[in-house]
Amino acid sequence: MRAVDIIIKKRDGGALSTAEIDFLIAGYTSGAIGDEQMAAWAMAVVLRGMDDRETTDLTLAMAHSGDTLDLHDIASLTVDKHSTGGIGDKTSLVLGPMLAAAGMTVAKMSGRGLGFSGGTIDKLESIPGFRAELSAEAFRAGVQRGLVIAAQSGDLAPADKKLYALRDITGTVESIPLIAASIMCKKLAAGADCIVLDVKVGDGAFMRTIEDARRLARTMVAIGNRAGRRTAALISSMAQPLGRAIGNAVEVREAIATLRGAGPADVLDLCALLGGELAVLAGQVATPEAGEALMRAVVADRRALAALRAMVAGQGGDVAVIDDPTLLASAPTTLDVLATRAGYLAAIDGAALGNAVNALGGGRNRKGDAIDHRVGLTIHARIGDVLAVGQPLVSIHAASEAAAAGVADTLLAACTIVDAPVPAPPLVLEVVREGMTR
Ligand code: URA
Repeated sequence: MRAVDIIIKKRDGGALSTAEIDFLIAGYTSGAIGDEQMAAWAMAVVLRGMDDRETTDLTLAMAHSGDTLDLHDIASLTVDKHSTGGIGDKTSLVLGPMLAAAGMTVAKMSGRGLGFSGGTIDKLESIPGFRAELSAEAFRAGVQRGLVIAAQSGDLAPADKKLYALRDITGTVESIPLIAASIMCKKLAAGADCIVLDVKVGDGAFMRTIEDARRLARTMVAIGNRAGRRTAALISSMAQPLGRAIGNAVEVREAIATLRGAGPADVLDLCALLGGELAVLAGQVATPEAGEALMRAVVADRRALAALRAMVAGQGGDVAVIDDPTLLASAPTTLDVLATRAGYLAAIDGAALGNAVNALGGGRNRKGDAIDHRVGLTIHARIGDVLAVGQPLVSIHAASEAAAAGVADTLLAACTIVDAPVPAPPLVLEVVREGMTR
């Protein structure tokens, strides 16, 4: 077999065999196939696409290119959630405890933030003492407790690591099969039996249109199920940030409030819907509606809050912050951005908000940059709200007055206020399950 023949076959619109895909990924991982051939192949895929069988083969080949986790000796079934990334997305902090409280085992590896989107691990590290870098033994101990959220460890899907970096510099990121395979290979390697995907759509999201979000969701659900993992997806709106807090400590505070029944409705609603899907996939309930009710019940009776407390304690964190979130570090300065005109809030530029948090020091531009867990934003207005002149739109939590002032104008410009009423956007647009879309 020769790489050049595989490139030509895809360039001409052919479907690659399992053996050809395995050959390509094994060769690229070992270095036998170089970047130039892989880049040519990736561009051929961007232009010609891949069917579900090819995409699943690619996903499995990348998933098996390095370490894979198998937790079945300590948990008969594990569940996981993946979000394609959104501003203010603290669902893992809320949903993980809800799932554990409902009797599911959550074994989650999460990332650190890069660019304008935050990372679950950075958020959790706002909790004093919390350890996210776990040994294999500590990770397994967390699984045995029912809930662990840790930074990715080991050499999971090295082929994807290499290929993603190559795609980034060769104009080949924008391909639904390549994105779907890239996301799902890491989920498969991490070992979850049941996976729910939260595919975000909107200006602040990776997928800008509902058509693209639907194709990505449908492709990932097909891959998961073909690979023997029970998988479903929600397509949720990123027209505006999820909840009100954007940053690290501020998002942990909001997650705790949500688990106390005192958080923003959209955070609880989305987590209840995602958890409801997983409860069905895990065989806990018969319908998503029953699953959603179960998720709301474990919040109402504080079992989910107890599950968060147990995870934080198990990973070395100070549980006092769960009972008193004011103990979390807070920024020394807060500056309110006020509406300069009356009207209806029509749009919030999520990327601008994420970039502002970055500029305040709450995110990182390069891997390994230190971050300031204290800083962030509180968003006071939702799309559709009626606003008066002088009403607070956003509170900036900053390390200094100068830092706050430095992003105030951008944040004002990020909020579009118009004269005519604007409908509130829906939270969830569609559900994608095996073999169906609704
Ligand atoms: N996230 C990933 O992990 N891979 C992609 O290709 C795009 C987003």
